[in-house]
Amino acid sequence: MRRTLLPFITALFAVLTFVPVGLHAQAASRAAVPADAPYKDARLPADRRVADLLSRMTLEEKATMLTGAGWMESAAIPRLGIPAIKMADGPLGVRSWAGASAITNLPGGPLKVNSTAFPSGVAMAATWDTALVQREGKAIAQEVKALGRDMILGPTVNINRVPLWGRNFEGYGEDPYLAARLGVAYIKGVQGEGVIPSVKHFAANNEEFERHRIDEQIDARTLHEIYLPAFKAAVEEADAWTVMSAYNLINGVHCAENSTLLTGILEKEFGFKGFVVSDWGSTYSTAATVNAGMDLEMPGGAPARAMIASPRSQLSGNSGTWLEAGKVLAELKAGNISEATLNDNVGRILRVIFVSGLFDHPLPGGGEVDTPAQQAVALQGATEGIVLLKNAGSLLPLDAAMIHSIAVIGPNAAVARTGGGGSSMVRPKYAIAPLDGIRSRAGSGVDVKYALGVGMEGEDPAQDSPEARAMALSQAVDAAAQSDLAVVVVGRYDKIEHEGADLKTMDLPAGQDELIEAVEKANPRTIVVLNSGDPVTMTKWIAQTPALVEMWYGGQEGGHALASILFGDANPSGKLPVSFPKKFEDSPAYGNYPGMNLKVNYAEGIYVGYRYYDAKNVEPEFPFGFGLSYTTFEYSGLKIKPYEAAWGRPVEILLAVKNTGSRAGAEIVQLYIHPDHSVIDRPLRELKRFQRVELKPGESKMIEFTLDRADIAYWSPEKNNWVSDPGTYEIQVGSSSRDIRLRAPLELKK
Ligand code: BGC
Repeated sequence: MRRTLLPFITALFAVLTFVPVGLHAQAASRAAVPADAPYKDARLPADRRVADLLSRMTLEEKATMLTGAGWMESAAIPRLGIPAIKMADGPLGVRSWAGASAITNLPGGPLKVNSTAFPSGVAMAATWDTALVQREGKAIAQEVKALGRDMILGPTVNINRVPLWGRNFEGYGEDPYLAARLGVAYIKGVQGEGVIPSVKHFAANNEEFERHRIDEQIDARTLHEIYLPAFKAAVEEADAWTVMSAYNLINGVHCAENSTLLTGILEKEFGFKGFVVSDWGSTYSTAATVNAGMDLEMPGGAPARAMIASPRSQLSGNSGTWLEAGKVLAELKAGNISEATLNDNVGRILRVIFVSGLFDHPLPGGGEVDTPAQQAVALQGATEGIVLLKNAGSLLPLDAAMIHSIAVIGPNAAVARTGGGGSSMVRPKYAIAPLDGIRSRAGSGVDVKYALGVGMEGEDPAQDSPEARAMALSQAVDAAAQSDLAVVVVGRYDKIEHEGADLKTMDLPAGQDELIEAVEKANPRTIVVLNSGDPVTMTKWIAQTPALVEMWYGGQEGGHALASILFGDANPSGKLPVSFPKKFEDSPAYGNYPGMNLKVNYAEGIYVGYRYYDAKNVEPEFPFGFGLSYTTFEYSGLKIKPYEAAWGRPVEILLAVKNTGSRAGAEIVQLYIHPDHSVIDRPLRELKRFQRVELKPGESKMIEFTLDRADIAYWSPEKNNWVSDPGTYEIQVGSSSRDIRLRAPLELKK
C-alpha cells in the first residue's frame, strides 16, 4: 500500500471521530460546519486540519477534488471553504492560463497576460548562480500573485540527455547536481512567497518524440544517479509542495500510474508530503492512477473533455478525464480503490492548501507585473548566463571609442527570440533584440548597419526563394566588408525549438552556416553569437571564427545583456551547463534515440553528458563547465581537512582563487570527485560542489566547501540504496570539467 502520511492521518482521524475510518465517509453528511471547526484554525498543525476537514467531507466531495475544474483550476468545495488552486504555466515567467499553449500562444490568440520573460532555464543554469535563481523564483511568484493565480508550473528539472530534445532550453542542463541546486533555489524563491511551485516532469521526460507513448527502459542506478536527484533535492531540501508527473512511460508504465515512481520513490524514499499533479492530458486509468499516488488530474471539466475529443490529441496520445468523480466513485464501490487511498490523495491536496497559506490568506491578486525589479532580475540572468566560448586575439570586448562601424547580421539579429516554444513561452510587454541592444550601447558615434543575411528557416516563405536568399547573403557580405567588424547572430526560434517535437538536427537552420562562412571571408573580425537553447554543430566554421558567444534564449532583456558583454560593461562569467558535442553522432544517446517501436533503451546508463565524453575519451567541441572571461583566475592552496576522513565526519575543502587580470570578474569554481578504484564502474569525475565568486583585479578569496560521505555515494542496484565505499578519491577543482587546476587525494576510512 502507498502513503507515508496515511498512518498519521488515519490515527488522527480515528482519535478525532471515534468512527472506524472505513465507515466514516458514508456517515459524513453535508452537516453545517461550525465556525470553530478545527480545520479553520490556522494555529493547528496542517495534518490535524487535514484530518478534521476530511472527516467533514462526503465521498462525492472528496472524489470531486481529484480532477481539475477547468484548464488551470482545481475544484473548489465552497460549502467547506476549500478554494480552487488557480494555476499558471511556467517555468520561465507567467504564461497565460486561458488554454493550451497551441491556442493561447498564437498571435491574436486569447492571451491573457503580458509578464516578464525571464531567460530560458538553460541560460539561468549557465549562471550557476543559485541566489539569482532564487530571486527569479521570487519574482515569478510575485507576478503569479499579482495576476491572481496561486501556482506556477515550474521549475523544469529534466536532464538534457540528447542534444535534440525540443525542451532542453527549459531545463537546467545535463548534470543532476547542478539541476538539483538550481531547482531547489527556484522552489525556495516561489514557496517563500506563498505560491505553489510544481517540479516537473517526474520523471525522465527527455524527448518529445511520441511523448505520450514512448516507453523508456531505464535501470534503477541510472534513474537514481541521473534523472531523479533534482526531484529528490526538491523534496528533501526545499520541501516542494507539488510534483508534476511526466507524459512518458518508464519501464512499461505511464508515469501518472507508476507506483514504483510515485509511491516507492517519491513518497517512501524521498518522503514527499505534497501532491502529484498530472501533466496535462497524461492519465490513462482510474484505479491504477489513484492507487499509484497521482493525486490531481489536470486539466478537468469541459476543457479536458474537449481536449481529448480533438483529433490532434487522439493522434498524439493525449488522454484524460479518468479521475472524474463518477469514475472514481464507481471504482471505490467496486473495491478497486480504498477509501483510505482516496483520503490520502485528497488529504495531500488539502495539506498544500493549508501549508501554502491559500486557505487562510487567499491571495488577493492585483498589483503590477514586469516591474523594474523584475526586469533587473531578468537582465542579470541574461547577462550572467552568457557564455564566451572563443575569443582569439582578444577581439572582445569591443571599445566603442575605437570603432566606427559594426555590421549586425543574421536571422536572429533584429528579432528578439526570447525563448523556445510551447507551454513555457511568455509574451513580454517588450523584448530587446540583439540589434536594439547593440545600437543603443554603441551610441550615435558608431554606424550600426543591419543585414538579414538569411531568412529563418520556415518563418517567411518570401525569404526562402533562391533569389531572396542570394540577395540577403550579398547584402550581408557587403555590410560586413564595409564595417570595422561584424556580429552574426544565428540560432533557432520557437517554431524549430519547442515543446511537442524534437529538433530534427543539431545543425543550424538552413543557410546559417553558409552565412557565417561568407561573412567571415568578407571580414575576419567577425563575432558569432548563438541564440538557441541547444548546442549546434559548428564544424564548418569554428576553426576560422575568432569570437563566439552563446547567449541562449535570454528572455526579454537578452539584447541588452548581449551588448553589455560585447562592450565589456559586464565581464562574461557564464559556464556551459551542458557539453557541446562536435556532432550529434558523438553524443551519448546516439543510437538509442528516439527508440524503436516506441521503446527507448537508456543504454548509455549513467554516462550522460561529460560523464560520457570523459569515459569514452570523445572530444567535445566545448566541455561542460567551460566559459571564458575577460580576466584570468589563478587557483592555489588546495587543502583537505581531514585528509583521512572517517565515516560520518564532514570534510572541509579549502582553496584560494585570485583574479590575476585587470578587470573585475566572476569565476565559477567547480569541484569534482574522481574515484580511484571502485568496486563498481563509475564516471571519471562528477560535479559535487560549485561556487560563483566575484573578484576585483588582484583580489583573492578563500573558497570553502564541505563534503560528506553522501557526496561520494553511488546507487547500488544490489543494495537498492546509496553506498559510499571506503577508499581513495581525488578531489579535483577547476574552471571547467576539462580544466582541472588543483587535485588532492581524500582517503575515506571504514
Ligand atoms: C507541459 C507542461 C505544462 C502543461 C500545462 C504540458 O503540455 O508538458 O510542462 O505545464 O502542459 O500547459
